[in-house]
Amino acid sequence: MYDVEKIRADFPILAREVNGKPLTYLDNGASAQKPQVVIDAITQAYSHEYANVHRGLHYLSNLATDKYEAVRGKVARFLGAPDEDEIVFNSGTTEGINMVAYSWAMPRMQAGDEIILSVMEHHANIVPWHFLRERQGVVLKWVDVDATGALDPQKVIDAITPKTKLIAITQCSNVLGTVVDVKAICDAAREKGVPVLVDGSQGAVHMPVNVKEIGCDFYAITGHKLYGPSGSGAIYVRKERMAEMRPFLGGGDMIREVSKDAVSYADPPMKFEAGTPGIVQTIGMGVALDYMMDLGMENIAAHEAGLCAYATERLTGLNWLNVQGNASHKAAIFSFTMNGAAHAHDISTILDKKGVAVRAGHHCAGPLMDHLGVSATCRASFGLYNTKAEIDTLVEALELAHELFG
Ligand code: PLP
Repeated sequence: MYDVEKIRADFPILAREVNGKPLTYLDNGASAQKPQVVIDAITQAYSHEYANVHRGLHYLSNLATDKYEAVRGKVARFLGAPDEDEIVFNSGTTEGINMVAYSWAMPRMQAGDEIILSVMEHHANIVPWHFLRERQGVVLKWVDVDATGALDPQKVIDAITPKTKLIAITQCSNVLGTVVDVKAICDAAREKGVPVLVDGSQGAVHMPVNVKEIGCDFYAITGHKLYGPSGSGAIYVRKERMAEMRPFLGGGDMIREVSKDAVSYADPPMKFEAGTPGIVQTIGMGVALDYMMDLGMENIAAHEAGLCAYATERLTGLNWLNVQGNASHKAAIFSFTMNGAAHAHDISTILDKKGVAVRAGHHCAGPLMDHLGVSATCRASFGLYNTKAEIDTLVEALELAHELFG
């Protein structure tokens, strides 16, 4: 049974007060809180098990290497990747997508080649492609969402032309919560020989993921949204794509041999992991993934579906609140503005006074903000430890904000 109160007790920060009120943490889309097991693993690693990885032949280095490398298998299991050598560690999704842009896309794309993006993408899945547009004349093709914020996979498929070299798409919008049928896109794209990169930063937090079933070529995750440390992350890269990639960052660990006039590279995935990595962050991410897998992604998804339904009912019941998007398949992420033109920042300041942490701004989703015709929204984003009572607290705080500004 999913015992949310027991789960909450695993997260020490959830017991604190903010502005004299119990913390209601609804900013999980930006970064999630950490369970005690992750905090303990970090303390244990630095207190008793720390050394640099891969390089030493001494006890601690071997111990740290074993703990660090064991995470590769955990990520592979979490994502359903066939082989742990298809997992590249990094500092998060931003680095993962930049690696794909530089190592895979840049050498194989020319002026006029096309990359298909949805209008819902986070800047991390936009700006690396703008680099290719600016430097190489690659064309970015945008697919809109409908009035509910849903993305019709067929629209993405219809946008494919002989010039399409990549589809780069989020599995879940960090603003609207819309879940995209990435499998349908991958199925059609594969038939046309077009690789697909899936931004799993939000998707992997809220639903079970199996990259083999999805059929994507790249799937990026970021540790800090998965209840792990910031500065940790990974990307699944299908073996065939990995073989096509040139190295990304150069330095220690990613080489086989270096001389004055030659260099040869380590086998993947090490080829794409230069320098001293986020050793303890990655170990912490492994513990966080274990924590989620122990709870069961299906169970987490079911719990959050209950939150999503209840929050939809409560928030849409406020006739002065404009909730953006109501796609039939969505995660528990809600963006809204308020009639009476209170700015998103003002609303979040009032909520903060009530101990309710939400995010306000453009959420690194400029094209979506343009599409919605707003400059900023407030966003309440839920996680595995949130409760329906917290939705009531959010609504009470919104009512207060409405009284003040409405
Ligand atoms: N993609 C999406 C959908 C996100 O929500 C985020 C973070 O908010 C990112 C990418 C970037 O993740 P990070 O900042 O951890 O690299």
